[in-house]
Amino acid sequence: MSFELDSVMVEESERHCALAEQVASALAPSIPIIYTADARGAARPENVADPFAAGKRRLVIARRNSPFLMGCPAGSARFACCGYLVLILASNCPMDCSYCFLQEFVADNPAFQVYSNYADSFEELDRLIHSAPERHFRVGTGELADSLAFDTLTRLSCDLIEFFQTRENLTLELKTKTDEIDNLLKLDPRGRVLVSWTLSPDAVWRSSEHRTAAPSARITAARAVLDAGYKVAFHFDPVIAYPGADRDYTRLIDDLLDILAPHEIAFFSLGGLRMTPTLKSAARRRFPSDPMLLGEEVAASDGRLRTFTPRRLALYRLIADKFARAGVKAPAYLCMEPASIHERVFGSAPPRSALLGNRLASA
Ligand code: SF4
Repeated sequence: MSFELDSVMVEESERHCALAEQVASALAPSIPIIYTADARGAARPENVADPFAAGKRRLVIARRNSPFLMGCPAGSARFACCGYLVLILASNCPMDCSYCFLQEFVADNPAFQVYSNYADSFEELDRLIHSAPERHFRVGTGELADSLAFDTLTRLSCDLIEFFQTRENLTLELKTKTDEIDNLLKLDPRGRVLVSWTLSPDAVWRSSEHRTAAPSARITAARAVLDAGYKVAFHFDPVIAYPGADRDYTRLIDDLLDILAPHEIAFFSLGGLRMTPTLKSAARRRFPSDPMLLGEEVAASDGRLRTFTPRRLALYRLIADKFARAGVKAPAYLCMEPASIHERVFGSAPPRSALLGNRLASA
């Protein structure tokens, strides 16, 4: 896959950092590189109809001044959580899914940023390991950005994999909707790296997941990284209820299990379409003809709009049961759902967050 950029803006102080030099060496000559004292300010789109879309086409290389490592921002006492930790190495994404929460989360700062001092995050990770040597942590880079979009340009995955290769109680999760795996295939993850794909039926991909790799290409890429020694996992998130969804999710899992054996899946997760009213209006404004944004929803107790519980539960059960019948014994979890929904889908209470986290990290 290749994504188009209008320009690259590099903070003047970072002109000679490894990331800026790497990007300059790999960038098409037609794309200008602008060095400026305030790259974020310079990249902020003004006087354009869709600032969020314009921001995705401006790559900013700047220092991050906040910590890189944090608990998953989706975590909350309301939900049964999976113990996921996130490493914020980039913000925003060159793809454009109509349901993406970044349309609200980074609305005021939509430039696609990659942090020049990303290697400082390794010290934070080492401090984490030393603080809890008995734990096994799963750390992902795909929360505020896709982990692999632009990896051919930045090569971030190479430094990450080299670091995680040697850390026994850490697992790196690279979460993506791309098939940008060339760098991965050149490295040996030594069992410490998991690549996960978000999977949706073709109908959702066509209407809502703009510029992402086709679901079949994601599954093919999963096969390739598995053969190269990586673990693989899948996120069915958001699961969307639309006419024909039952048939399409069934086919999607059949397609996946045609290419991967049940024991090759490290874990899977499920999550329903959920949007705050602000996100919903932004998404409908940007994608007025997307039928996936027009389903019937109710306001849940967390203020998000969600598919009616019985319909949501039916789709979760369909997917979970299909995997169980196929012999998939991998751990599974629900994202941003309460324990009561977990019990109704999987027939048991969810494990404590730390326990589930440990299980997923060593799956
Ligand atoms: S791939 Fe992920 S981060 Fe990128 S636009 Fe889609 S949902 Fe958002």
